[in-house]
Amino acid sequence: MILKIKQIGLSLEVKDELLNKLLEIGKTQYPREFGGFLIGYYSEDNMNLYITDTILPKKYKVSEYSFERSIKGIENELTEFYTENPRKIYIGEWHTHPDNSPTPSATDISAINTIINSKNTIPNPVLLIIGYCKTTADFGFYGWFENKLYKYE
Ligand SMILES: [Zn+2]
Repeated sequence: MILKIKQIGLSLEVKDELLNKLLEIGKTQYPREFGGFLIGYYSEDNMNLYITDTILPKKYKVSEYSFERSIKGIENELTEFYTENPRKIYIGEWHTHPDNSPTPSATDISAINTIINSKNTIPNPVLLIIGYCKTTADFGFYGWFENKLYKYE
C-alpha cells in the first residue's frame, strides 16, 4: 500500500506481505503487545519512504499495555541488510495494540522522542501501530516531521 501525509508531501510504501507477516508475528504474543524495528530506505530527497523488512528485538519487556525493546543484539542483522543494500537502514519501529485501536499512547510518543533525540538521527522516522482483534486488523502509520507527529493516510 502507498500512504501519504498530504500537508507535507511525505509518502510511504510498504508491501501487504510484510504487514501480514508483522501481524502474524504480533498475534503469537496475544494478549501482550509485541513489536520490532522497521528497515527500509528513503528516496534521495528523503520524502518517499520504502519499508522493506523487519528485525525482531532480542531483548524486550512486555505487558498488555506496553512494549519496551532493547537495541542490543540486533547490530549484526542491521549490518546484513546494509551489506545487501547500503541504502537499507533502520527507519523506525512497529508494535501491536491487541484488542485496541492503532493510536499512539503517551508512552509511544515519548518513545519516538527518544529515537529522534538519539545520536544517529534518521530523517523522518516512522511509527507503525497494529491494532488488532480476532477478526480485524488496522495499521496506523505515523511520521515524525519537524517536531510533529503526523498520520499517514
Ligand atoms: Zn503503543
